[in-house]
Amino acid sequence: MQRLLQLKARINQAAERAGRDPDSIRLLAVSKGHDIDRIRALARAGQTCFGESYVDEAMAKCQALSGQGLEWHFIGPIQSNKTRHLAECFDWVQSVDRLKIVRRLNEQRPSQLPPLNVLIQVNLDAEHQKAGCEPDVITELAAAIAAAPRLRLRGLMAIPAQRESAEQQYAGFVRLRQLFDALAARFAGVDTLSAGMSGDLEAAIAAGSTMVRVGTDLFGARA
Ligand SMILES: *Cc1c(COP(=O)(O)O)cnc(C)c1O
Repeated sequence: MQRLLQLKARINQAAERAGRDPDSIRLLAVSKGHDIDRIRALARAGQTCFGESYVDEAMAKCQALSGQGLEWHFIGPIQSNKTRHLAECFDWVQSVDRLKIVRRLNEQRPSQLPPLNVLIQVNLDAEHQKAGCEPDVITELAAAIAAAPRLRLRGLMAIPAQRESAEQQYAGFVRLRQLFDALAARFAGVDTLSAGMSGDLEAAIAAGSTMVRVGTDLFGARA
């Protein structure tokens, strides 16, 4: 798996430049739009965490690949009528952005599974076409998640706006990091800042991301 090795080298290099331990950054392979055989090949090469954005597509993949020790993360916009699938099939949901979704996921997480790991998605730049909550409701959502027995609050996820320069990109991730630090200071167990994709993972790692979500750089362009 040449692309996986190259990507890991890229992540390691970014970590080193930032003076960080490369093991403090997890790689989420974003497999949306790519078929099961590609996921299997990456899993054989040692990749365990996979991210999906569309519920129906994700369900088919999780079911076909169940029992192989893979960890599934949902990273797409959440429709409230699809929360049961998320609660039953995923290990993490990274795109929680409103109270209704918190309540439903908590009620629907099956009791025989461990609590569902949850990230709050933040809409950093108030882009109305993007999912995510406004920064000033993070604390309210976090308190609801922390109080939900079937959920486990782990941190924040964001997709900052595209920026012209590397400095502007970095500044966006730094704002996110500040929100993350404030959350971690208030709530136990907050350890995950999911930020950085194929085009901007260096800036995200420099600002303190602990999980990069990479599709294109790993699988090639989506159809
Ligand atoms: C598709 C997607 C990614 C991966 O983006 P690439 O640019 O292909 O690496 C990461 N995060 C989210 C939320 C996505 O929807």
